Amino acid sequence: MAKTYDPNNVFARILRGEIPCKKVMETEHALAFHDINPQAPTHILVIPKGAYVDMDDFSARATEAEIAGLFRAVGEVARGAGAAEPGYRILSNCGEDANQEVPHLHIHVFAGRRLGPMITKG
Ligand code: 5GP
Repeated sequence: MAKTYDPNNVFARILRGEIPCKKVMETEHALAFHDINPQAPTHILVIPKGAYVDMDDFSARATEAEIAGLFRAVGEVARGAGAAEPGYRILSNCGEDANQEVPHLHIHVFAGRRLGPMITKG
Protein backbone atom coordinates (compact mmCIF):
# COMPACT_ATOMS: atom_id res chain seq x y z
CA MET A 1 0.00 0.00 0.00
CA ALA A 2 1.28 3.46 -0.88
CA LYS A 3 2.63 5.49 2.02
CA THR A 4 0.98 8.81 2.79
CA TYR A 5 3.23 11.81 2.26
CA ASP A 6 3.28 14.37 5.07
CA PRO A 7 3.51 17.79 3.36
CA ASN A 8 4.73 19.37 6.60
CA ASN A 9 7.88 17.29 6.97
CA VAL A 10 11.03 19.34 7.40
CA PHE A 11 12.38 18.75 3.87
CA ALA A 12 9.05 19.73 2.31
CA ARG A 13 9.33 22.95 4.30
CA ILE A 14 12.89 23.49 3.05
CA LEU A 15 11.67 22.96 -0.54
CA ARG A 16 8.97 25.58 -0.01
CA GLY A 17 11.54 28.00 1.42
CA GLU A 18 9.79 28.08 4.81
CA ILE A 19 12.97 27.12 6.64
CA PRO A 20 16.52 27.82 5.50
CA CYS A 21 19.16 25.40 4.32
CA LYS A 22 22.79 25.66 3.24
CA LYS A 23 22.17 24.96 -0.43
CA VAL A 24 24.80 23.12 -2.47
CA MET A 25 22.97 22.94 -5.79
CA GLU A 26 19.52 22.92 -7.30
CA THR A 27 18.21 21.50 -10.56
CA GLU A 28 14.76 21.01 -12.08
CA HIS A 29 14.28 17.77 -10.15
CA ALA A 30 16.61 17.90 -7.15
CA LEU A 31 17.86 20.05 -4.29
CA ALA A 32 21.11 19.40 -2.40
CA PHE A 33 22.01 20.97 0.94
CA HIS A 34 24.34 20.37 3.88
CA ASP A 35 23.09 18.11 6.67
CA ILE A 36 22.41 20.08 9.85
CA ASN A 37 24.23 17.46 11.94
CA PRO A 38 27.11 16.27 9.75
CA GLN A 39 28.52 12.78 10.33
CA ALA A 40 31.55 13.35 8.07
CA PRO A 41 33.55 16.40 6.88
CA THR A 42 31.26 16.39 3.83
CA HIS A 43 27.68 15.37 4.54
CA ILE A 44 25.23 16.54 1.92
CA LEU A 45 21.60 15.53 1.45
CA VAL A 46 20.16 15.26 -2.05
CA ILE A 47 16.37 15.20 -2.32
CA PRO A 48 13.86 15.03 -5.15
CA LYS A 49 11.60 18.04 -5.53
CA GLY A 50 8.58 15.78 -5.86
CA ALA A 51 6.61 14.49 -2.87
CA TYR A 52 8.09 11.04 -2.24
CA VAL A 53 8.26 9.45 1.20
CA ASP A 54 11.25 7.18 0.62
CA MET A 55 13.11 5.07 -1.94
CA ASP A 56 10.29 2.54 -2.05
CA ASP A 57 7.78 5.24 -2.95
CA PHE A 58 10.16 7.00 -5.37
CA SER A 59 11.20 3.87 -7.26
CA ALA A 60 7.54 2.89 -7.69
CA ARG A 61 6.01 6.24 -8.67
CA ALA A 62 8.63 8.72 -9.93
CA THR A 63 9.02 9.50 -13.62
CA GLU A 64 12.13 8.50 -15.53
CA ALA A 65 13.11 12.17 -15.65
CA GLU A 66 12.78 12.53 -11.87
CA ILE A 67 14.83 9.38 -11.24
CA ALA A 68 17.53 10.43 -13.69
CA GLY A 69 17.47 13.97 -12.29
CA LEU A 70 18.00 12.81 -8.71
CA PHE A 71 20.85 10.44 -9.49
CA ARG A 72 22.58 12.87 -11.85
CA ALA A 73 22.42 15.40 -9.02
CA VAL A 74 23.97 12.94 -6.55
CA GLY A 75 26.93 12.37 -8.87
CA GLU A 76 27.31 16.07 -9.56
CA VAL A 77 27.25 16.90 -5.84
CA ALA A 78 29.93 14.32 -5.07
CA ARG A 79 32.13 15.52 -7.94
CA GLY A 80 31.56 19.12 -6.90
CA ALA A 81 32.69 18.27 -3.36
CA GLY A 82 35.92 16.86 -4.81
CA ALA A 83 34.97 13.39 -3.61
CA ALA A 84 34.97 11.30 -6.80
CA GLU A 85 38.55 10.55 -5.72
CA PRO A 86 39.40 9.37 -3.06
CA GLY A 87 35.79 8.32 -2.73
CA TYR A 88 32.47 8.78 -1.02
CA ARG A 89 29.47 6.86 0.26
CA ILE A 90 25.80 7.32 -0.53
CA LEU A 91 23.08 6.04 1.76
CA SER A 92 19.30 6.29 1.91
CA ASN A 93 17.36 5.10 4.91
CA CYS A 94 13.98 3.66 3.98
CA GLY A 95 11.44 3.09 6.73
CA GLU A 96 11.46 2.01 10.32
CA ASP A 97 14.16 -0.69 10.34
CA ALA A 98 16.54 1.77 8.68
CA ASN A 99 15.76 4.51 11.26
CA GLN A 100 14.51 6.95 8.62
CA GLU A 101 13.80 10.19 10.50
CA VAL A 102 12.54 12.54 7.81
CA PRO A 103 9.72 11.14 5.62
CA HIS A 104 10.86 12.77 2.36
CA LEU A 105 13.30 10.71 0.29
CA HIS A 106 16.87 11.87 0.81
CA ILE A 107 20.21 10.49 -0.26
CA HIS A 108 23.10 11.13 2.11
CA VAL A 109 26.49 11.83 0.52
CA PHE A 110 29.37 11.28 2.95
CA ALA A 111 33.01 12.12 2.17
CA GLY A 112 36.17 13.70 3.50
CA ARG A 113 37.52 10.91 5.68
CA ARG A 114 37.90 7.13 5.75
CA LEU A 115 34.30 6.08 6.25
CA GLY A 116 34.80 2.76 7.98
CA PRO A 117 32.62 -0.33 7.65
CA MET A 118 29.43 -0.20 5.62
CA ILE A 119 27.00 -0.91 8.43
CA THR A 120 27.14 -1.28 12.21
CA LYS A 121 26.17 -4.54 13.86
CA GLY A 122 22.74 -5.01 15.38
P1 5GP B 1 17.52 9.99 8.12
O1 5GP B 1 17.80 9.46 9.48
O2 5GP B 1 16.04 10.28 7.91
O3 5GP B 1 18.14 9.18 7.03
O4 5GP B 1 18.30 11.37 8.02
C1 5GP B 1 17.73 12.60 8.29
C2 5GP B 1 18.85 13.61 8.23
O5 5GP B 1 18.30 14.90 8.14
C3 5GP B 1 19.75 13.60 9.48
O6 5GP B 1 21.10 13.36 9.09
C4 5GP B 1 19.54 15.00 10.08
O7 5GP B 1 20.71 15.53 10.63
C5 5GP B 1 19.06 15.80 8.89
N1 5GP B 1 18.18 16.91 9.23
C6 5GP B 1 17.08 16.87 10.04
N2 5GP B 1 16.48 18.07 10.09
C7 5GP B 1 17.20 18.90 9.29
C8 5GP B 1 17.07 20.26 8.92
O8 5GP B 1 16.18 20.99 9.37
N3 5GP B 1 18.00 20.77 8.07
C9 5GP B 1 19.02 20.00 7.55
N4 5GP B 1 19.87 20.59 6.72
N5 5GP B 1 19.16 18.70 7.87
C10 5GP B 1 18.26 18.15 8.73
